[in-house]
Amino acid sequence: MKTVVYNDHLLSLEHINRADLQKIYIAGKNGELTCPICREHVQLKLGIQTEFPYFFHTQSPDKHCPEANVPAKPIDYIEQNGFKIPKGRAITATTKELDHFKPAKRITYKIPFTYENLVLTENTSGYIQLLAEAGIVLDENQVAAVTETEGSLLVLAGAGSGKTRVLTARTAYMLEVKKIDPRSIMLVTFTAKAANEMKHRLLSYPKIKREHVHRLVTGTFHSIFYRILLFHEPQNWASDKLLKKDWQREKILKEAGKELDLSEKEFAYDLALQQIGFWKNSHLSPNEVKPATEWEEQTALLYKKYEERKAGEGLFDFDDMLIGCYQLLKSSSSLLEYYQERFHYFLIDEFQDINKVQYELIKLLSGKHKNVCGVGDDDQAIYSFRGSDPSFLLDFETDFPSAKFIILEQNYRSAHEIVTAAGEMIAENRLRKAKRMRAQFSSGELPLLFFPYDEEEEATMILTDIQERISQGENPSDFAILYRTNAGSRAIFERLATSNLPFKMDSDSFYDRYIVRVALSFLKLSVNEDDPQSLCDILPILFLKQSALQSIKANSILMDCTLLEALAQIKTPHAFQEKKVKRCVSLIRKLKDLSPIMALDIIEKDIGFLDFLKKRGNESNQLEKGSDDLKDLKVAVKNFPTISAFLSHAAHMSSMNKEIKKLSKHFSEAITLSTIHRAKGLEFQNVYLIGAVDGSLPHDFALDSYRNGDFSALEEERRLFYVAMTRARLRLFISVPEYRRGKKAHPSRFLKALNKEKRPILK
Ligand code: ATP
Ligand code: MG
Repeated sequence: MKTVVYNDHLLSLEHINRADLQKIYIAGKNGELTCPICREHVQLKLGIQTEFPYFFHTQSPDKHCPEANVPAKPIDYIEQNGFKIPKGRAITATTKELDHFKPAKRITYKIPFTYENLVLTENTSGYIQLLAEAGIVLDENQVAAVTETEGSLLVLAGAGSGKTRVLTARTAYMLEVKKIDPRSIMLVTFTAKAANEMKHRLLSYPKIKREHVHRLVTGTFHSIFYRILLFHEPQNWASDKLLKKDWQREKILKEAGKELDLSEKEFAYDLALQQIGFWKNSHLSPNEVKPATEWEEQTALLYKKYEERKAGEGLFDFDDMLIGCYQLLKSSSSLLEYYQERFHYFLIDEFQDINKVQYELIKLLSGKHKNVCGVGDDDQAIYSFRGSDPSFLLDFETDFPSAKFIILEQNYRSAHEIVTAAGEMIAENRLRKAKRMRAQFSSGELPLLFFPYDEEEEATMILTDIQERISQGENPSDFAILYRTNAGSRAIFERLATSNLPFKMDSDSFYDRYIVRVALSFLKLSVNEDDPQSLCDILPILFLKQSALQSIKANSILMDCTLLEALAQIKTPHAFQEKKVKRCVSLIRKLKDLSPIMALDIIEKDIGFLDFLKKRGNESNQLEKGSDDLKDLKVAVKNFPTISAFLSHAAHMSSMNKEIKKLSKHFSEAITLSTIHRAKGLEFQNVYLIGAVDGSLPHDFALDSYRNGDFSALEEERRLFYVAMTRARLRLFISVPEYRRGKKAHPSRFLKALNKEKRPILK
C-alpha cells in the first residue's frame, strides 16, 4: 500500500521526500497514519530487504485495501503536528524530484562452491576421537596442530579456520593425554572475556578436570604480567596509581605541551598519545626514539616529559605493566630462571597482534624450554597503531628456527557466500600473505549491501530486520551490529533502547560525551533557567571561570531572579565580555520556542559554540573531533518537534545506557552492539556492519594519512572491514548510508572490490 492519511491529508509514498521517510515511519509508530480506505492505523515498512517501503495495517499486516488516488501535485502543507520543516521544503515532493529509494543489492560471487570432505586421522591416544564424539571435530591439519605439543609451532590461517579451537583442544590434549602440569602452561588471549570463554569451553571437553583448568595461567598479556609484578613489587604497582583512562594521560600530555609551547588548538594530542603507546610497545624509550618528522620530534619531547611526570608521581599506565615486567626479569637472573623453569609451554591466540615488548617477554621466558605455540592471521592485524606487529608472526622462524608451521585452509565459520566476499575484499591489500580459504557450506543467501538515507534510517532498517527474524524464531544472541567507532552506535542504541529487544553494549552514552553534554546544557537552561549543573557546563563557552558560579548563585538569591538572569548581570573586568554574556543569555531564552535543530544552529553559530570547539573542543584530535559530536547531535535531534521532547529523550537514553551496561552482564540472550575491534575472535549468525562509507570505514584519519603518502593505515582499515565481515556465519548485511553527519557520503572505497564488473549484481 502506498497511500495513507496523515494530518487529514492524503499522502503517497511516491511524493514523499526521501529525507522524510523516517518521520513518516515514526508517525506510523505513534499511530498518526491511517488507511484512506478502512481508516485503520497503518505503519511504514522500512526494512533492509524491502524492495520499496510500503504501508501495512498495524493490526492486520496481511490486509490489503485498494490504493486511493492521490493528486500528482504535492500537497502544500508543512509545520503541522510538531514537524517544523524549514520554509520552502515540504514533506512531500514531486515524483521527479524524488531521490529514489535504493533497494538492497546482493553481493554475488564467481567461484562456485565445492565441498571438500576432510579426512580425520586415526590417533593413537584416542582423545581426538573422544573430542569428535563430544562434537569437537578436528581436521587433519588441526589434529597435527593439537597433538604436536613439543617444540614451537605456528599456525597461520585465515578467519574462522579453527585457530582458537586448535588452541583450546591443544591445551586439553596437553592436560589429558600428555599429563602436563597445568601450572606450567601459559595460555594468552587477546581479551579477558576470551580467556574466560576458553576456560569455559575447556571445562566442557571430555575428561578435563576442573582443578586443572583453574590452575592454568590464563589471561591477557597485561593481566598475566601485572600479576607477576604485583607479586614481586606490590609497592610500585598499586592499582590506584594506574592511569586507566585516556583523558588522564592526555591531561598529562597537555600539561607537558604547555611547557613546550605547543598549541592545544593545533597539536593532535590524541595521536601523540597513540604514538607514545606505539613507541612504548615497540620497546623504545624516549632516548631511543628516532623521530622522522617535526611532529614526531615534538611528540618525542612530550614522551620524555610524560615518563618523567609519571615516575615523579609513582604513576603507571597499561604499557608500563609489560615494560616493568620485562625490566624486572632482566634485572634478576634468579627470578628469570625461576619463571623459565615454571613455564614450559606458551600458547598464544591472535598472534598477529603481539607487540615487541610482549614478544620479547615470551622470548625471554621461553628461553629454556622453547615451546611457543602461536596462532594468528596477518589479515586480522588491527592494532598496528599501538605497536602490534604482524611481522613477529610472519618471521617466526627467525627466533624459533626449529618451529613447525601449519596452515589451515578451511573456514568452518562462514558460508561460502561470505568467505568469498571477504576474501575478495582483503585480497586488495598489498602487505599480506596470500591465503586460500574455503567454506564448508553454502547458505544460498548472498551478503547484502543496503542504502539507508542516514544514520536514523539505518537504525530503523536494522531493527525492523532483526524484529522480523526474531519473530520467525531466531535468538537475539544470533545478532551483532558492528561499527568503526563508539560514536557510530548512537542511533542504533536509541532504536534498540526503545524496542523491547534485549541487547548489550559496553560504551558510554552519546549524551554523556562532553561536547554533547554542553550543547544539551544550553537547551536545558532555555527550559529551566535555574539549572545549576547546566549553567556550570556552559560557563567555559562564555569564557567565564567556574568560580563565577558562586557569585551568580548569590546574585540570583539577592536579586530574586533565575540563575540565567543573574548570569546576564555578571560583572567582569571586560565590558565587551559582559555585553557578550548578556547577548548569549537573551539568545538562550529564545531557544525554547524553536525546534531543537534550529536551536542547535543558534548555539553553534550565534552563541559561538563552534568557535569554542575550534579553540578548546579537541578539534586538533584526529580520531574524535568535538565538531563531529555536534554533527551527530544534529542528526539525533532532527525528528524531534520540541526541545523538551528531545531533552527527555536524551535523559532517558543516558539512563538506559547505564542500565544496559549494568544489566546486560546478566543477559544470556542479547543482541551484541560492538566496535569491530572488540568483536575480534567472535562469531554470530547475522552481522550488520554499519556506516560503510568513506570517513567512517575507512576512518578519516586513515584517509588523511593515505593522502600524505602512507597507505598502511588504510590497509589496516581494510583489515578491520575484513574482520567485521568474517564475524558472520550465515548472513551479512553491509549498510551504506547516503548521508552521514548531515552530509552526502561516499560508499566505502573498499566496496569496489565487491562490485567489480565481473559480478552481475542480482536483485
Ligand atoms: P578467528 O580468526 O576469527 O579468530 P578462528 O580461526 O579462531 O577464527 P574458531 O573461532 O576457532 O576460528 O573457529 C570458527 C568456528 O568454526 C567455530 O564455531 C568453531 O567451533 C568451528 N570449527 C573449528 N574447527 C572446526 C572443525 N574442524 N569442524 C567443525 N567446526 C569447526
Ligand atoms: Mg580465533
